[in-house]
Amino acid sequence: MKTNPDPWQRVEPGSVWRGWWQSGYADLPPLPVLCAQGVYPGPTLLVTGAVHGDEYEGPAAIARFMDQLDLAQLRGRVIGLPVVNGNAWRARSRCTPSDGGDLNRAFGGQQEGETARLAAVIYETFVRACDLLVDLHSGGARLVHLPMVGWYQGAGRDAEILARRFGAPVHPWRIPDVPGVLSYEAHRLGKVALGAEWRGGAALDPAGVEAYTAGLQRLWAIFTGVVEEGQLAEDPRDPIAGSYQTTEQGGLFLPHVRLGERVEAGAVLGLLSNELGEAIATPAAFRSGVVAALPHLALLFPGDRIAYIG
Ligand SMILES: [Zn+2]
Repeated sequence: MKTNPDPWQRVEPGSVWRGWWQSGYADLPPLPVLCAQGVYPGPTLLVTGAVHGDEYEGPAAIARFMDQLDLAQLRGRVIGLPVVNGNAWRARSRCTPSDGGDLNRAFGGQQEGETARLAAVIYETFVRACDLLVDLHSGGARLVHLPMVGWYQGAGRDAEILARRFGAPVHPWRIPDVPGVLSYEAHRLGKVALGAEWRGGAALDPAGVEAYTAGLQRLWAIFTGVVEEGQLAEDPRDPIAGSYQTTEQGGLFLPHVRLGERVEAGAVLGLLSNELGEAIATPAAFRSGVVAALPHLALLFPGDRIAYIG
């Protein structure tokens, strides 16, 4: 894979490089990159936002986190990619406009098209170079999430400890293994990898920016050994597990459950109705757990996500 000279790889200790980086592919847009090089040696943190183009807390938090870094004390290197899928961002779309691809299902794969090429460039250039990846998401235009930050099964204790220390407003989450997802593929590569969700509805929630920024500061302090693990209290919270549930039928969805509510398997999630106001279906929870996401866009098509239950 051909890439142009990488100015973000030659940052002087104690300084930040902020600019547009052009990959070797002419059809991929330049990528906004922020890179801070600490004065002390240490690991590399990669923070990613807007892997889906309609999610806004991550990009805002990455900018604030970089602005607030104490460069005179910083250990290691921090790379921020605030807007990973720029063409989706400019289209205010979850997916890449040219091929309709979901970038967060395209990592580690061999498919053709702009989305696959972008995934390969991010993976080879940035994911391979990092020790810790934090991928910041939100519900996008279609969903609203419970704030949660997660790790993968078998990742060892590091990833779970980091997720649990991210901050009180963000619930611990055991992310299901889904091939092609950025954080899962980074985990498979042997990186410490976390993924986070904060509300959604294509809003920019100031509380989310604050929680993500504070969470990144805390994680980096722990990961670089500025804070000893022994100084940290145990976290008694049960993690959210589970996965998304999709609907077989479309219609206007009136939820009967609230975000954060505990439901039993088979509980009615809500009512789907048609344009005449006639009931079409009352979808039931596929498993017991906490309702961790619900639609923001209330008119559902068959195959759309109707909840996350975990
Ligand atoms: Zn997302």
